Amino acid sequence: MPWPSDLLAEYPCDFCGGAVNHPVIERPDGLHVVECDDCGLVFLSPRPKDEHLARLYEADYYTCDSDVGYQGDYFSDRRRESLFEQARAWLAILAETGIAVSGKVLEVGCATGEFCHTLLQECPTVDRVTGIDLSQAAIEEARSRYGDIAFEHGTIDNLEPRETYDAVFAFEVIEHLSSPDAFFRKASLLMREGAIFCLTTPNLECGRSIGLSNWAGFSKSLEHLYFFSPAMIQQYAARYGLKIERTLSGGGSGSNRLIKSVKRKRVKNALKSLGVLGLLRKTRDSLRPRQGLQHDYQSEEPRHTLFMVLRRHGPATPKCRAEAEPSDY
Ligand SMILES: [Zn+2]
Repeated sequence: MPWPSDLLAEYPCDFCGGAVNHPVIERPDGLHVVECDDCGLVFLSPRPKDEHLARLYEADYYTCDSDVGYQGDYFSDRRRESLFEQARAWLAILAETGIAVSGKVLEVGCATGEFCHTLLQECPTVDRVTGIDLSQAAIEEARSRYGDIAFEHGTIDNLEPRETYDAVFAFEVIEHLSSPDAFFRKASLLMREGAIFCLTTPNLECGRSIGLSNWAGFSKSLEHLYFFSPAMIQQYAARYGLKIERTLSGGGSGSNRLIKSVKRKRVKNALKSLGVLGLLRKTRDSLRPRQGLQHDYQSEEPRHTLFMVLRRHGPATPKCRAEAEPSDY
């Protein structure tokens, strides 16, 4: 469904401020992805105005069944179990690559809190966990599930830089933001010297390797505003004194399965209307062997989801693009 033009606006490049770009692809929602001529950042332009972005994350973002937001019921027990599995997989990947998590930890975009809870349960070196999310509904659910964790409603901008952390996590966050530059800056201010910043985001390099028109990153999750390659993340990281420690990718081939998923949704809806979907799922789950912590994250081929760990080196003195002189870079 195309966006009404009065809800859209053009913004300069978030990384370099440049106003000149060239087209990359048109998405199914009619919005255009462009690439900055100066720095290579890939983003939507024009895009929904900042004042309309928050609407995407109100209560129905977590329960809607459309091409924007989470599919199915995000608050269900079934989803909760899959979030636990995902959390354990992230921790396993960190452990396998030799990255230790300890001390005070912050998760930005914590949703219903399963990663925060898993950290506290499975990492004895973690002392305290704070989770923050833009969705009031998700934070209320997180508080009711895990009373021993400090959950806050808001964005990273609401956090005081006086409080610093040993680890910051942001899974599938930076592609949603109006300014990733401001986010990287604030995250770096919240990190102690030596702290890690672990993020995931759709991997543009995967799209480039399989063909942009074949990449699910442009045809699903239509609330995404930015599309990052590891090289672009590296540019942001370097601006704020962060160095890349690990770059992995996984989560499948990234091939566009939009048509298949529409067909699958129709079949699901038909089964739901017959009242047998729940029974079929229970039967399938009881027959399915436990997957354990298997994952396909590796450092060779570019796959759909980018997983990167950055580390703060040196004291925090960064400026954001708007405050800095070009010579600072
Ligand atoms: Zn640029």
